[in-house]
Amino acid sequence: MTAPTLPGLEPAPTPVAPRPGSRAARMALPRSIDVLKDIAIEYGVCVRPLAMRRTDLDTGLTEVIDLPCGATREDKCPPCAKKNRRLRQAQIREGWHRDDEPLPGPEPATEAQKSLILFRAHLEFSRDEAVRAAQWDQVADLDEAIREVEEAIAAEGLRGRVGPPHASGDEDQDDEPGQRRKRSTKRRQDAPELPRRKVERRTVGKTYTAPDGSTYQPSMWLTLTLDSYGPVRPDGTPVNPARYDYRRAAWDAVHFPRLLDRFWQNLRRCEGWNVQYAGCVEPQRRLAPHAHFAIRGTIPRDVLRTVSAATYHQVWWPSVDVQRYTLDRLPIWDEQAAAWVDPDTREPLTTWTEALDAIDDDPDAEPVHVVRFGAQVDARGVMPGTEDAERTIRYVTKYITKHTGDCHKATTDRQRKHLDRLWQQLQVTPCTDRCANWLLYGVQPKKAHAKLKPGRCKGKVHQRDTLGIGGRRILISRDWSGKTLADHKHDARAWVRALLGVTTDGTQLVDDQGDTTERVRHAWELARPDDPDVGPMTHRLMRSISERARWRSELLAAKDRAAQGSSDLSATQHIERHDGEEDDSGRGSDHRAGSSPDQHE
Ligand SMILES: [Zn+2]
Ligand SMILES: [Zn+2]
Repeated sequence: MTAPTLPGLEPAPTPVAPRPGSRAARMALPRSIDVLKDIAIEYGVCVRPLAMRRTDLDTGLTEVIDLPCGATREDKCPPCAKKNRRLRQAQIREGWHRDDEPLPGPEPATEAQKSLILFRAHLEFSRDEAVRAAQWDQVADLDEAIREVEEAIAAEGLRGRVGPPHASGDEDQDDEPGQRRKRSTKRRQDAPELPRRKVERRTVGKTYTAPDGSTYQPSMWLTLTLDSYGPVRPDGTPVNPARYDYRRAAWDAVHFPRLLDRFWQNLRRCEGWNVQYAGCVEPQRRLAPHAHFAIRGTIPRDVLRTVSAATYHQVWWPSVDVQRYTLDRLPIWDEQAAAWVDPDTREPLTTWTEALDAIDDDPDAEPVHVVRFGAQVDARGVMPGTEDAERTIRYVTKYITKHTGDCHKATTDRQRKHLDRLWQQLQVTPCTDRCANWLLYGVQPKKAHAKLKPGRCKGKVHQRDTLGIGGRRILISRDWSGKTLADHKHDARAWVRALLGVTTDGTQLVDDQGDTTERVRHAWELARPDDPDVGPMTHRLMRSISERARWRSELLAAKDRAAQGSSDLSATQHIERHDGEEDDSGRGSDHRAGSSPDQHE
């Protein structure tokens, strides 16, 4: 970028090299500590490791072991964030195109389990009789028996509680003191106008058979977007900021997760099977959230459009039309009344219960906000095992190592001002029913207390760099891969172990998750950075890097061997999958900071 030269001004002379030995010359040299960190990142070594002291319970020997910090955001620790992203990618990949149910139903109950449940049923009957006959000492005995048999049921390996516990004497307390609030009929969600079917347990999509007999099972890729708040330019900023609806943009962002939940619920009911998804929420350039999803199986595009058009979420909260207080004149807490009061009149503000009752009693009440999707619904089919599928997975996980606010950095003045206006709105938007911001509108939030800071709620959505996207950014349905992220982590590690022929006996492989498959031999404790046996961070980093470098070349050699000789198909597939990525999938847990590692030599 060269600025136009003003008349009379000569371009600056070309810079000459600084005098050797000068401060400038010294400052031009790269700092060795920075280079060390760069290399650590290059080798996938955690740059903020957590030192753990491990004591061998048999020998009493202690050793300090660096555990990776496990950060999910790049600005904290790039290697850990990358590793987390790879695990997410593996999770999406495994669930997307599977053709069998990830979680087959539970095993049938044993006779012992059945007889315990039958016994519990008899106790329930007797308790009911005792209550009717007002034999309270018997009731107490039966409650005790019920507690015991329920413990036995749990011990017998049955999941969950057979029934809710009986209320003991005093009835369960309601949220607010005073009389129990009756269930509102008004503040419910209207049912969308969609066909409804019974939802089957099936989570895998349809398989199609081609005329030549080959079968294929396509999956889908879906993007859901919010409505327009006014025309925007290609840089994401409004054409006319004064007419851009920041209020609706802020409320939509805060309630977007609920809208997505309702979408999946509606889609499952409409389609009649338990549709599974894995995806992410991220900001668009205009700073409104949108969501990308991989869907297992296919759903007709017009069904997706119909469901997204019919889906909405109603927010039944008190009105926020009038902001009654500002930061320079705020309600105050009255210790005696145990309530927030007007600073001048000392009148208590409307309580949350009163505000909700007013909505219930008003026949014409409307929800304070309704979130809907925008008209734009992108959906397409994706065939398993294609480059398209891989590209899509990378796309879903593109921003997960970044903070919401860092996905699209504001670089121009227009963009910065757009962000500021959205943020101003987010600061006064209530985040939940307990948000301190309700006080600005003359309402005491639910469970109000003295420590609230009106207009300065700590809720995530009010912070500038969340853009109102406060909740989870990765959304994965329960029956996606049938595994948690920790399960996937374990799988990745097992793969590397198998490839290197490392066995799981002895001390070598104590998992950072505290894996219990091995005999407990070690006690772990957190070591403090200034403990004498911990050593400077730079020394620990250098050891980890060295170890990682050797590990990596060893892994490459093992891959070569596997690719040449082995006919083990699954191993080769794994290698292809891991190619071009960092090879640390199984490591990271045990960079020795103590004695030199020899278990891989
Ligand atoms: Zn880390
Ligand atoms: Zn809040």
